[in-house]
Amino acid sequence: MDPKFVVLMGGPGAGKGTQAKRLQVELQLPQISTGDIFRENLKNETELGKLAKTYMDKGELVPDEVTVAMVRDRISRPDCANGVLFDGFPRTIAQADALGALLAEFGAQVTVVPYIHVAGDVLLQRLAGRWTCTQCGHMYHILFNPPQTPGVCDLDGARLYQREDDTEETQRRRIDVYFAQTAPLIDYYRQKGLLAEIDGEQSIDAVYEALKQAIDQAA
Ligand code: ADP
Ligand code: ADP
Repeated sequence: MDPKFVVLMGGPGAGKGTQAKRLQVELQLPQISTGDIFRENLKNETELGKLAKTYMDKGELVPDEVTVAMVRDRISRPDCANGVLFDGFPRTIAQADALGALLAEFGAQVTVVPYIHVAGDVLLQRLAGRWTCTQCGHMYHILFNPPQTPGVCDLDGARLYQREDDTEETQRRRIDVYFAQTAPLIDYYRQKGLLAEIDGEQSIDAVYEALKQAIDQAA
C-alpha cells in the first residue's frame, strides 16, 4: 500500500486533535501534532520548549525554521514510513513548501488535505470549553463533549486541565493568526487538487465518518 501523508486543516478548536486521536488508531498512522510536541518540550523544560513558550503564551506562531527542523527530525523516524497524520502543521505557506520538500526527499508527497470547516465564533466557543487529560491528552468539551465525571478522564481516570494558552485573549489571537497566516493554505492545497472540505459543525461522530471517507477516497 502507498504511504498516506494526511494534513488535517482547520482553525484552532476545529476538532483536529479530537479527530486525529481517533483516526490514528483506525488508519494505523502516527499523529504528528506540532502543538503537542511543543507542549511536551515545555513540560520537560528543554531549550526548544523555553523558546516555543514565548510564542505560545501570546498565541503567535513559533518561527518556521524551528518548527520545520522539529518536524524533519520527527518524520525521519521509522514509524513514519507508512505515512503520517499531521495535526496543526503546516500553518504557513513556508511550512507547507518545506513539508513538500521534506516528503520529496523520501519520494513521497501529501496525499490529501481534509479541511474541517468551522466558523470563527464557533471556534471560540470550542476553545473556551476545552479540557484535556493530563495523562493521555484526550480532549473534552464542557458543553459539547463532557466527561462522565466532571474533571476526570473517561479513558484513564486522570485529571483534566485547561491549557495555559487557553485564556480568552490568547484564544482570540490564535484565531486571528489562523485567518491571517494559515487560512491561505486552503487555496494553496485546493490549487494542488488535494483539498477535501468537511463540515466541521456536525457531531464528532459525523465529522469522523466524513474524514474517513475523504481519506479512503484519496488512497
Ligand atoms: P490549537 O489546538 O489551539 O490549534 P495547537 O496545540 O495546535 O493549538 O498549537 C498551540 C501553539 O503552538 C500555537 O499557538 C503556536 O504557538 C504553536 N504551534 C503549534 N503548531 C505550530 C506550527 N505548525 N507552527 C508554528 N507554531 C505552532
Ligand atoms: P483543534 O485540535 O483543532 O484545536 P480540538 O480537537 O482540541 O481542536 O477541539 C476543540 C474543542 O472542541 C474540544 O473541547 C473538543 O472536545 C470540542 N470539539 C471537537 N469536535 C467537536 C464537534 N464536532 N462538536 C462539538 N465540539 C467539538
